[in-house]
Amino acid sequence: MKQNIAVAIDGPAGSGKSTVAKEIAKKLGILYIDTGAMYRSVAFACMKQGVVLENETAVLAVLEHLDMKILPQTGGQHIFLYGEDVTEKIRTQEIGAGASVVAAYSKVREKLVEIQQQLSKAHDVIMDGRDIGTKVLPDAQVKIYLDASVSERAKRRLGELEAQGKQADLESVEKAIAQRDYQDMHREHSPLCKAEDVVVLDSTGLDIATVTEKILEIITEKTK
Ligand code: C5P
Repeated sequence: MKQNIAVAIDGPAGSGKSTVAKEIAKKLGILYIDTGAMYRSVAFACMKQGVVLENETAVLAVLEHLDMKILPQTGGQHIFLYGEDVTEKIRTQEIGAGASVVAAYSKVREKLVEIQQQLSKAHDVIMDGRDIGTKVLPDAQVKIYLDASVSERAKRRLGELEAQGKQADLESVEKAIAQRDYQDMHREHSPLCKAEDVVVLDSTGLDIATVTEKILEIITEKTK
């Protein structure tokens, strides 16, 4: 039986994972799966229902009845909550921070990891997140850890927010990113860390095209 292609891209917030993964998915004609959007959707559903994210029991009650549908596509994944396409709505700093809170709960992770593993069984995928190479796809043929300095990541995030017409200042974006890094790296369950067999790439000072090219070279090398 042919083994599906699985490319895992992990790294901290704003390192360029999703932009690069989408580009690669298009070039290789495989599916892009954004796992961060799933954690964001859980947080968003809780916030909409007035649930305090620090209340694990209440979050798990939302999770139990969560109606979340994922439509992975080559050009970018769409995600639906209770029938509504929330793909764009969940891309705020507040929901990113909320996602980091609910992502610390093991039951939330179990449910989302199962969905992610099912998707990779059925398709050739490039998947990005924090625990893809270590937990979700430990047998992925290619594992990349994409990093960049906090100040560079904050500048990129600020640019994205400004492009969406949102007001923010560099200092507060940098602070939010550093806090999310800390939470994601120090939680008990599946903290962000480098898998043993990972290739580490630092994208500080590199443009998207260069990073994409480098990763494509690694994929070609590892899958030939
Ligand atoms: O990648 P993104 O910024 O959308 O992720 C939002 C949050 O979801 C992360 O800060 C992290 O806490 C959580 N996450 C995770 N595991 C993943 C993907 C995201 O814990 N595989």
